[in-house]
Amino acid sequence: MSVLVVAESSEGKLKKSTFEVVAYGKKVAEQLGTNMVVLAINANEPNQLYTYGAEKVLSVTNDALKTFNAKIYANVIQQAAEKESAAVVVVESNANGLYVAPMVAVSLNAGFASNVVALPSSTAPFTVKRKAFSSKGFNNTQITTDVKVIALAKNSYGLVEGEVAGTIEEFSPSVIESGVSSTSIEQTTGKITIADADIVVSGGRGLKGPENWGMVEELAEVLGAATACSKPVSDLGWRSHSEHVGQTGKPVASNLYIAIGISGAIQHLAGINSSKVKVVINTDPEAPFFKAADYGIVGDAFEVVPKLIEKLKNF
Ligand code: FAD
Repeated sequence: MSVLVVAESSEGKLKKSTFEVVAYGKKVAEQLGTNMVVLAINANEPNQLYTYGAEKVLSVTNDALKTFNAKIYANVIQQAAEKESAAVVVVESNANGLYVAPMVAVSLNAGFASNVVALPSSTAPFTVKRKAFSSKGFNNTQITTDVKVIALAKNSYGLVEGEVAGTIEEFSPSVIESGVSSTSIEQTTGKITIADADIVVSGGRGLKGPENWGMVEELAEVLGAATACSKPVSDLGWRSHSEHVGQTGKPVASNLYIAIGISGAIQHLAGINSSKVKVVINTDPEAPFFKAADYGIVGDAFEVVPKLIEKLKNF
């Protein structure tokens, strides 16, 4: 029996958020009195996983897995889980993880819980605490199947280090033909993805038009942040739909979320309220976002943001 953790990488680089999932998987394995195995697909430096307690890494190198395809990935994860007799499979609760995990669960006849925010109960039945109602509440979910698949919400466990002397085992699963196009909805080239970003700079309709996004991008560049937007902004075609965050867009669980010209409608807040620190820039002191914010600047974005960029550049 083991706990299998799926490590995500992008263009060969292990994602920072994956280290949290590995640290979590290690603790789950300890609780169950078993060992953890980490599956790393096309990761250039799988030994980085040792820092987070990975004693055994199954390393897969295969060009057919360079692009994320949920059906193919699910099959590879299933093969790894069966090879390692996994009792628990842990993935990250992000777009790719939530795409692939239900398929893995079906193939393993396992129960599945998404948006898990804490370690499972240490006593039977296996119970996990999960975010519910667009992160406004929590529920406790029991999984009673022999094999369990769980998806850990970002920033809910932490980057807990625990260096071990690990080993890497080359793993060569058979790679199926998918027949369907089910590729990642995460952007992976060039820019930091919203899912991976520590900082997200987000713009709303208050920015008036796509021609004014230069300062949002510049602020994001200075901070090493990802860019995002509210729903109307992507609906209007000012920004790509891949940047739309909120209840019907991508969830954000960054350390810092900067909202510029966004009113703070409930549907927007539902998707970003897992971020640790929220900063709002808005001309309207009555904008609902100020109630949800940790720091607020009542001011015109066209004055505030350039000043902020200038200060940060000289920092
Ligand atoms: P607005 O509401 O128009 O707000 C613009 C803000 O900019 C205002 O507060 C204004 O004071 C401020 N402003 C204006 N000028 C300036 C300036 N110069 N400087 C600084 N501030 C300025 N929305 C999402 O974002 N994500 C979702 O996932 C989502 N899902 C939805 C699902 C459903 C079923 C429904 C019904 C709605 C959903 N919405 C979602 C839409 C949501 O209800 C709001 O309409 C939307 O979030 C508003 O976007 P906004 O804040 O950019 O624009």
